[in-house]
Amino acid sequence: MSQESAFIPPGATLGVLGGGQLGRMFAQAAQSAGYGVTVLEADEAAPAAQVTGRHLAARYDDPLALDQLARDCAAVTVEFENIPAASMQWLDARVPLAPAPKALALCQDRAQEKALFHRLGVPCAPHAVLAAGSDPSAVGADLFPGILKTTRLGYDGKGQMSVACAADLPAAWSALGGVDCVLEKKLDLAYELSVVMARGRDDSMVWFEPQQNLHRDGILFASFSPGPSIKPDIAEAAQNAARTVAQGLDYVGVLCVEFFVLRDGRLLANEIAPRPHNSGHHTLDSCTVSQFELQWRALVNAPLPMPRQHSASVMLNLLGDLWFDAAGRQREPDWAAVLALADAHLHLYGKHAPRKGRKMGHLTCTAATPAQAREIALRACAILG
Ligand code: ADP
Ligand code: MG
Repeated sequence: MSQESAFIPPGATLGVLGGGQLGRMFAQAAQSAGYGVTVLEADEAAPAAQVTGRHLAARYDDPLALDQLARDCAAVTVEFENIPAASMQWLDARVPLAPAPKALALCQDRAQEKALFHRLGVPCAPHAVLAAGSDPSAVGADLFPGILKTTRLGYDGKGQMSVACAADLPAAWSALGGVDCVLEKKLDLAYELSVVMARGRDDSMVWFEPQQNLHRDGILFASFSPGPSIKPDIAEAAQNAARTVAQGLDYVGVLCVEFFVLRDGRLLANEIAPRPHNSGHHTLDSCTVSQFELQWRALVNAPLPMPRQHSASVMLNLLGDLWFDAAGRQREPDWAAVLALADAHLHLYGKHAPRKGRKMGHLTCTAATPAQAREIALRACAILG
């Protein structure tokens, strides 16, 4: 589109593909600056559909809904990486779209992400690509014990299996459906971190301090910012790598790169999220600009301010597990007690059916120091059970 880099003023309508919590928080941020938001999402009760001015309740490949989105919106973004490539290309020919279809397609595929890391000289885990139908015995013995991951559609640890040795690989692969996979060496992690950043069409780039991420059962449990283990040299290397990735992809919008730090001190890139990220939710409450504000700013070609963190934070994910007592009976968490905690910022996504592992909301504890933020988070954990 020729007008892609023209500033889109408040009052215009922005579109988002996907109606989950990321779409909801994008919409809320854009609306607070006076933009209208239209969401394309099949689920009538989706978190973003509850807050946007217009909800196109249709699949991502519905031609009429895509046409309506293109006609409604001055620019369109995504909150979910698995938008069909054909829909992205169709929209790209009609309306300013960020990220671009090519960047999104690459981030849908772990094998392509790893190839990009290689091309850009960003170290990542030793791995082998297992194309559907290929011979698993060709995989090198040095990759075991390993983690087998489907190249597409995995999230929150889904689509992954541990594989102890080469003999176990065929069974694990067929348990994952025999689809295209990567086998990664299982790494001795000291900790995990992520960098959230934004890039504009003019190659301007801004980034947050990295946050340290604690996962349980493959799902993000808590993010610490600043991260207690992150040394300045690692933070700088991770931010440099994230910028290299954004430029290498000619990326426009907000992206997150997840990293592993090994016990031997090495920093390895794990994966790229072509959108705001769960680990960046604390920025809503701890920084001068949030990841969602950067997302709409990049989309409307507004200047991107470098975020400044004004509070230390600990973000806790509120998973559906908290809606069940020890006997498995459904209950409501004690919100009155949570809200009585000073500097604990509650975000609920409007999801009506709690399920184990489902992200229902998050709670960001902010304070003058990391130790104080941690103290509030511990009290919140005690209340939530
Ligand atoms: P997802 O798309 O589900 O987030 P990830 O590849 O990020 O997939 O894996 C989820 C989590 O599993 C990681 O954050 C990390 O805790 C663990 N993990 C993934 N790959 C490895 C590995 N090669 N070695 C050790 N732990 C890993
Ligand atoms: Mg991940």
